[in-house]
Amino acid sequence: MAQTEFIKLSGIAAAPGISMAPAFLFTKEIETISDETIENVNEALENLRLAIEKSQKELSKVFSLAVDKLGEKRAAIFEAQLMILDDPILIETIRQRIIDEKKSPEFIVDAEMSKYQQLMSASSEAYMKERSLDIKDIKDRIIRNLKKRKWLSKILNNVIVVASSLTPADSVLFSKNDVKGYVTNFGGLTSHTAIVARALDIPAVVGVHDATSKISDGDYIIVDGFHGEIIVNPTKKQIKFYEEKIRKINDIDIEFAKLKDKPSVTKDGREIKLYANLDVTSELDLILQNCANGIGLLRTEQIFQGTEAFPDEDVQFEFYKEVAEKLYPGTVTIRTFDIGGDKVLPFDVKEPNPMLGWRGVRFLLDNNSLYKSQIRAILKASKHKNVKIMIPMISSIAEIRRSKEILEMCKHELRDEGFEFDESIPFGIMIEVPSAAVMAEDYAEEVDFISVGTNDLIQYLLAVDRGNEIVNDLYQEFHPALIRTLDFIIKAGKITDTEVSICGEMAADQYAVPLLVGLGFESLSMSPSAIPVTKKIITDLNYQQVKKLVYECLHYKTESEIKTALKDFFNENLKEEAERIK
Ligand code: PEP
Ligand code: MG
Repeated sequence: MAQTEFIKLSGIAAAPGISMAPAFLFTKEIETISDETIENVNEALENLRLAIEKSQKELSKVFSLAVDKLGEKRAAIFEAQLMILDDPILIETIRQRIIDEKKSPEFIVDAEMSKYQQLMSASSEAYMKERSLDIKDIKDRIIRNLKKRKWLSKILNNVIVVASSLTPADSVLFSKNDVKGYVTNFGGLTSHTAIVARALDIPAVVGVHDATSKISDGDYIIVDGFHGEIIVNPTKKQIKFYEEKIRKINDIDIEFAKLKDKPSVTKDGREIKLYANLDVTSELDLILQNCANGIGLLRTEQIFQGTEAFPDEDVQFEFYKEVAEKLYPGTVTIRTFDIGGDKVLPFDVKEPNPMLGWRGVRFLLDNNSLYKSQIRAILKASKHKNVKIMIPMISSIAEIRRSKEILEMCKHELRDEGFEFDESIPFGIMIEVPSAAVMAEDYAEEVDFISVGTNDLIQYLLAVDRGNEIVNDLYQEFHPALIRTLDFIIKAGKITDTEVSICGEMAADQYAVPLLVGLGFESLSMSPSAIPVTKKIITDLNYQQVKKLVYECLHYKTESEIKTALKDFFNENLKEEAERIK
């Protein structure tokens, strides 16, 4: 082990857990490409053909691995990459340019594909930017194969991958090698690395800025995915400390897992229902294992991620039906497509400010047949009466009423067509926009349930982009304005007798649990891996006591006072749990 002095780096805690292992520095070398004239054009064309064939083979392998690890829907991104490799116009243009210009295939591939890549990366739209990375990925792959270099994603087992950023293909391939952790310079909570890491339960810290310049290949490192910290070349004392910590976490997790079949009830008898958020299909098993009450948020965008077109009604129906049947008698809250904003939009729309633009229900109401196809598919999957429907990004009562009209229209059609469905399917909305929070009481009267999406509510309430690591410090889930807003929404629910739950990432933050229970939330929806520890916390809480804690927190004026109060509460009342995240 290196004897150099240790350094500490910090970033965004993207997937919980702690691991220690040698770093594998994943740097993609920049290939030098010469623009010299070539002599043998036929040989160059044959090299191009072989390189494309090899790239196709590699990508097909990644695709089938991704199907296993992430499910078919998310794996479609690689299918789309394969389609680019199969594009006859692109390939013919490259071939023709080699013949005409007599330059090496590397040079022409680079020039031709970079044109598309630059066009897309100049787009202000997140989806197009992502696609530009896909093109770069394919371009680099072909060039590497032309140069007959080995593809670098082949790595050793049991290492922590450190990279500037990782493509979806890299993240999936690495997970095969029993990777112990991920550290990246770029990326936020919604980056591919973060999503794959959470789905596979691998600790990850992203948005570290200088990870690749401060960490060298082979450095022994500790990744703390609870706190977003990395220790490079730790001292013996630090290693001992973290070894002890990992051991304790393992013991605690084994204890927590024993609560699996027990209800989550506070010591003084208040039941808090726990639901799971479903993002990646493979998480279904984890959800079933952890015995959640069901799915509190099914993010349906996964159905079309990486594909060009919207799925039709039948494809959607099959998917919703499968999830609803697997979860039965647990309930499944299906959220209609939350397209736009930070999520993908499957066609080219340029918006100056996508987060404030054509997003969620706004997009759906303008695309009536798409909205209807989804609502019809959800209704058809509801015949066992365990499905709920939820609408994202509501910011006016007109959007609620218009959506309800479409729901009634769809019911009417399905009745005529002879389909069986839940006539009184619960209809709910997400509160993610401050105006909806202010109007919560009026909106609650229109719907069967409300679910608070804190990920967006925080960004819109505090005017801080949720995906921008530069302002990450200002994205505060314990900001007093947020706590008071949550209190206001809960009260609106009480007055109108409407169920209010929460499905933002905040519900998975252990420090937030006593606060949310004390505020009066009776159901929480979170990443499935957070359910066992949350259940443990709830069973150790006393509702009357956390109500007092909330009373104090509602009077604080700064985030740090609230955080301190929550930490103190943990240390005094939840010793075992505090041990896990200390
Ligand atoms: C939220 O905004 O809190 C939420 C759950 O929705 P998403 O993260 O999918 O935007
Ligand atoms: Mg949201």
